[in-house]
Amino acid sequence: MRKLLKGVKRFQEEVFPEREGLFQELACGQSPRILFITCADSRIDPNLITQAEPGELFICRNAGNIVPPHMDTTGGMTASIEYAVAALGVRHIVICGHSDCGAMKAALQPESLVDFPHVKDWLGHTSSAVRVLKEKYPGKSNSQLLDPLIQENVLQQMMHIRTHPYVAAKLATNKIKLHGWVYDIKTGSVFAHNPANGIFEDVRVDLPDEIASRLAHDHSHDHSHDGGHDTVDPAMPQGSHTFAAE
Ligand SMILES: [Zn+2]
Repeated sequence: MRKLLKGVKRFQEEVFPEREGLFQELACGQSPRILFITCADSRIDPNLITQAEPGELFICRNAGNIVPPHMDTTGGMTASIEYAVAALGVRHIVICGHSDCGAMKAALQPESLVDFPHVKDWLGHTSSAVRVLKEKYPGKSNSQLLDPLIQENVLQQMMHIRTHPYVAAKLATNKIKLHGWVYDIKTGSVFAHNPANGIFEDVRVDLPDEIASRLAHDHSHDHSHDGGHDTVDPAMPQGSHTFAAE
């Protein structure tokens, strides 16, 4: 804790004064363009890996970057997604998995979770992804299935989030775009699912001009508080993806 408190002190004395204009603006409200859903893993820092400023990402985190399918019962993810999409009007949703994900390792070995009933229940939301992998790659070891599962889980959660009513409505009217990412801790690479070919592509080398120009366009509107919506491309249908490793 001592290190944490020292960090707070350094932030207040050194960082805050340099960025005071930004924080004064943010004190009056937020207008994030992106809902960023990722794992609670301590090694993931969404703002660091995207170099986003405070106020730019509305972040939801949990074990395994999971989005439960919409249900009538209220949960933290459901409420946060509803608020981000319906109230804040985010334009993009990124679901970001990561390498070496402990939740995905556990999902491959549910028998290891007997003493963690809530974790086991929670990871049930990725059971379809596990089943897909075991069907596609019979005989592969759990360690061989881990990287494909990390990708498949992102796709699974992208399907789940479509069942949330506000997300479905905004996708149907092209007011929001859904992105599937995987972050590699060891290399810093970020791979984005390309719905056109089903492959997770390194954004560093494969960022299409069309996406780059759209991102630049979005950036120019940051903090505009205009409440309007850019039209974005309709999301492609799911179901025909393949893995880069294939
Ligand atoms: Zn994880």
